[in-house]
Amino acid sequence: MKRSHTVSREIRRTRTSASTRKRPIAKSRVRKIFEQLGNAIPDPEVELTSSNPLELLIATILSAQCTDERVNTVTPALFARYHTALEYAEAEPRELEALIRSTGFYKSKAKNIIACASLIATRFHGRIPDNMEDLTGLPGVGRKTANVVLGSYFGQPAIVVDTHVKRVANRLQLTESDDPTTIEYDLQNVLPKAQWTIGAQRLLLHGRYVCQARVPKCEHCVIYTMCAWDGKFVIA
Ligand code: SF4
Repeated sequence: MKRSHTVSREIRRTRTSASTRKRPIAKSRVRKIFEQLGNAIPDPEVELTSSNPLELLIATILSAQCTDERVNTVTPALFARYHTALEYAEAEPRELEALIRSTGFYKSKAKNIIACASLIATRFHGRIPDNMEDLTGLPGVGRKTANVVLGSYFGQPAIVVDTHVKRVANRLQLTESDDPTTIEYDLQNVLPKAQWTIGAQRLLLHGRYVCQARVPKCEHCVIYTMCAWDGKFVIA
């Protein structure tokens, strides 16, 4: 198996706003890509463990710069210790830090969780907001975290752009951008709204388990024939 190009590299063009693509994209190719991914990943679950929207929000904040697998090792003790936004808001910072330490950046994550929970407890009466504006107004919550909550808990059309989605969307030429918000808008443009949440989650899982950053498993890829990335492996 060898690379189709002597120098393996991702083609990236950075844009800073929600600008549109330069290259046209064939709708039939997009439809085929997501049909095949749908066959391969029929039930693309969020892999963070949670049993309510507060836990999902906290777990997603913890997943920044950390794997879901690692987050899932700390959340059982965390969720057993704190149950409501008010309890997180009143947490003793050092105790909270110790519980989430292995997820990295634990001091800033603890600070954000306490500040975020305080706002949820006071402004939203302990309820998790169900819209992008209010969610992204919470400390430590960006569009990615907000989209996880909106899509997975509230069932709203929501495209989560993490490092895997960013990479796969670029390799498949579904976007020409490195900017997560632009990628989100580009994917909104190529996917029917009803497929935003599930389609993006399939891209994410495809990137996590098959189209990996350093050595993509092209030999196991169900969309191999639809991938025009010049760094993909040639299957003999
Ligand atoms: S063929 Fe390889 S590079 Fe292309 S999407 Fe599949 S795994 Fe990724």
